[in-house]
Amino acid sequence: MISVAEAEEIVLSRVRSYGIEEVTLSAAIGRVLMEDIRADRPLPPYDRVTMDGIAILYSSFDAGQRVYEIADIQAAGMPQKSLNDSSQCMEVMTGAILPADADTVIRYEDLTIHEGKVKINIETVKYKQNVHRLGSDRVLGEILVPSARIISGAEANICATVGKATVKVAKLPQVMVISTGDELVPIVEQPLPHQVRRSNVYALQTALQQSGINCDTAHLNDDIEELHGALSEYCASYDVLILSGGVSMGKYDYIPEILQQLGVEQLFHKVRQRPGKPFWFGEKSDGPVVFALPGNPVSSFACLHRYVYPWLFRSIGMSRTELFAELGAPISFTKDLTYFAQVRLSWDRGRLIATPVEGNGSGDLANLSDADAFLEIPRGRDLYDPGEIFRIYPYRPLTLIS
Ligand code: AMP
Ligand code: MG
Repeated sequence: MISVAEAEEIVLSRVRSYGIEEVTLSAAIGRVLMEDIRADRPLPPYDRVTMDGIAILYSSFDAGQRVYEIADIQAAGMPQKSLNDSSQCMEVMTGAILPADADTVIRYEDLTIHEGKVKINIETVKYKQNVHRLGSDRVLGEILVPSARIISGAEANICATVGKATVKVAKLPQVMVISTGDELVPIVEQPLPHQVRRSNVYALQTALQQSGINCDTAHLNDDIEELHGALSEYCASYDVLILSGGVSMGKYDYIPEILQQLGVEQLFHKVRQRPGKPFWFGEKSDGPVVFALPGNPVSSFACLHRYVYPWLFRSIGMSRTELFAELGAPISFTKDLTYFAQVRLSWDRGRLIATPVEGNGSGDLANLSDADAFLEIPRGRDLYDPGEIFRIYPYRPLTLIS
């Protein structure tokens, strides 16, 4: 049986790329930008007034003038006017273009205005103050956002200001999430005593959606014909298949065999880990990458975060840093397996603390809601002490952890 590190290496060796597509800016949030965004004008594009007040020619103030007649008003959105007489001033508003022949802005707070005349009440005025100079942020043609950046509100602002109504982003793969098992009924049905509702697909679909990846979903019974027919179809029409269930040692666990009959090469089956030991991974050369996860809800959830996510994110050009947390209480685990402990996370002045919330094993899906992440406890020891640092795989944004 291979180790978690070996499994990860094999999974990541099958990273793919799905090309580029152009989408509207509002649809691009969270996607990976696949072009450089350049300044189509200098930034700012004109000498921009940054305070409501008056614009003057600095040399007049420097020569001792303190009282000015108001020549005109330059509001935001008005074409540029000119301060023809340097003994006068122009009222100006934030966002307006600085009037020609003026160079310095004094805010209303530092003025007294009476019967069309303005008195400046301060003695310290700096040349060109309160003016955001043309091109002082970025020059024409400069790269404002380089390719490969993930688009957040900051990038949307920049794309919008340079008039990019559509942007090129990394294309997402077509993902199909499939639950399997005769005991599983649709969630709107009342299960019989020997049945449970199909919850895994919702767990996997929701987690994927949280990361900006849409998927289709399906359910298949433990029936060779049905599995063969449907999986053959899905192999032809999806880039990624994520299955749950049917990969263990049970009499009706047909998935590995059927996938191989359909030409999906098995790259590994079973990983030295808990939960999720029966995890199967394969790839069809002219078809999808296939993650066949064990059906137990905690197992499939852990495998999604530990293996499927890193593969998916790399395949869409996202590089994500590894996350670590500090163990907050001792853990004893004596099996020779990597242990994905369920942990509650908390922040302690910049330190991320992971406190174990054990639950009743891989079937205890209710426990997942009491935790925030899986903490990867390596093999080789029986006891792990508070203060030790391990990798974490959170399933909630770290900003939402209290
Ligand atoms: P399997 O991996 O098919 O042997 O399933 C292991 C356990 O997980 C069984 O108790 C299944 O009933 C349960 N299980 C499998 N798939 C799902 C699912 N989609 N939703 C809820 N439980 C599931
Ligand atoms: Mg099953």
